[in-house]
Amino acid sequence: MARKFFVGGNFKMNGTIESIKSIVKNLNEAQIDPNVEVVIAPPALYLLLVREHLSNGIEVAAQNVFDKPNGAFTGEISVSQLKDSGINWTILGHSERRTILNESDEVVASKTKVATEGGVSVIWCCGESLEERESGNTISVIEKQLSAVSAKIGNWKNVVIAYEPIWAIGTGKVASVQQAQEVHAAIRKWLKANVSEQVSAETRILYGGSVNGKNCKELAKEEDIDGFLVGGASLKPEFVDIINSNL
Ligand code: PGA
Repeated sequence: MARKFFVGGNFKMNGTIESIKSIVKNLNEAQIDPNVEVVIAPPALYLLLVREHLSNGIEVAAQNVFDKPNGAFTGEISVSQLKDSGINWTILGHSERRTILNESDEVVASKTKVATEGGVSVIWCCGESLEERESGNTISVIEKQLSAVSAKIGNWKNVVIAYEPIWAIGTGKVASVQQAQEVHAAIRKWLKANVSEQVSAETRILYGGSVNGKNCKELAKEEDIDGFLVGGASLKPEFVDIINSNL
């Protein structure tokens, strides 16, 4: 089964009502490759605004979700609240949450389990720091992150993996095509050995980290790169060029 190309836009903690409406308008009016699945993730406060105004078949993702049912969890948002609001996706395990908010592999895995079981699809992020890469531990770090999530979830159908080397995020320093393809192939190999041949063949693996309108075409050609998770450039008109990188 061919893997449908996937492009996610992670707005992070950026935007205003006005700027986000203008991004949505731009996407609604854009010519988008029908062979690409597009999902954008605004800050939680703007999820409903985006959901209401977005057309063009584009889906909306939260940037995080909690792993408990509704109740006394001040500041958190539940899976059922996302569903109730027509938000069918969430990003989980972004390195900014892992490092700044101290989310462990286990917390990310638990959230992934609760989201997927509750019918919210997950863009699950993994990636190594510069220090880990330089000490030759890239693959082992990612395998550890994969093991934690794989121990918790039974169904990978609603999971998209995003490989995001931390040193490439927001730095303008994109991974080389070879560096990215190497890790993507290793992730696919790990899935085959530890989950199943089918999950390995069908799961989309995105690259994230300083993707822009210029470097996306080369990366998109690689066999194991099935799309992108885009931060900074998802706030700009060039996001459309990234969506259309296979045209
Ligand atoms: P960037 O961020 O494209 O701004 O590097 C990517 C991400 O953090 O998802």
